[in-house]
Amino acid sequence: MFRRSIYKTPAQLRSMVEPGLITAAALDAVRPLIRAGVSTIELDTAAERAITARGAESNFQLVKGYHHTICVSVNEQVVHGIPGELVLQPGDIVSVDCGAQFDGWNGDSAITVVVPDDTRPDVVANREELSRVTEGSMWAGIAAMATASHLGEVGAAIQEYIEAQGPSAVSGETYGILREYVGHGIGRKMHEAPSVFNYRTPDPGAEIKPGLVVAIEPMVTAGGEATFIEEDDWTVSTVDGSDGSHWEHSVARHEGGIWVLTAPDGGAAGLAPFGVTPVPLA
Ligand code: MG
Ligand code: MG
Repeated sequence: MFRRSIYKTPAQLRSMVEPGLITAAALDAVRPLIRAGVSTIELDTAAERAITARGAESNFQLVKGYHHTICVSVNEQVVHGIPGELVLQPGDIVSVDCGAQFDGWNGDSAITVVVPDDTRPDVVANREELSRVTEGSMWAGIAAMATASHLGEVGAAIQEYIEAQGPSAVSGETYGILREYVGHGIGRKMHEAPSVFNYRTPDPGAEIKPGLVVAIEPMVTAGGEATFIEEDDWTVSTVDGSDGSHWEHSVARHEGGIWVLTAPDGGAAGLAPFGVTPVPLA
């Protein structure tokens, strides 16, 4: 059986720059719309417009059985929420996952935003902290891509970052990391080998070397890590009803270093606290 190498050539890596930037532009279009009174389908429409305006297509719509451009997951929903008539409320924590395919190559990225709510500052603070911990763990994992030899070190870096943040103010225990859902290789398809775990595993995982491109995407909860799939057959929600957050970037390791394909600055701002400077693709 023919198996495509998980390592891309320099030319193939360059082909992934544009779909990454288009994915970033789609999330940039959605971000300012995440406010009270907006329905989640409106977010989907904005993302689709941003992608098609750049001559790309939604790769989420290429997933069998899925008909939308984004996944939008609110409060106890962590990932894979379907856009619809749901109207965002003050204080909601909203994760948006999106991807674009351009000229046969893919990008995949996710953000979390908390809707302001002056009447519930404690709720907002806890949710913003959950998002901060999740985003920080993503950057810790991305930073590990610069120096690690195997993907298992990325998962360990993500878990260590989360554990170092101390207990969740909501549960009093360490933030939960989803176990059944993981990051992945990305290229000609949005989802490719190898898997990128968000926690320590006995298996060292795939070798990290020039040509590896992966989507690093921690999914974190303010409570337990157990989830179930809602009756819509897609939405992944926490069993204990605790809030979830999801952050994701597509990251390339190349001869010169690492470059975050789905960040216009290559990840410079997010990586700075870790002492890593991204290097543009040659
Ligand atoms: Mg994604
Ligand atoms: Mg992904």
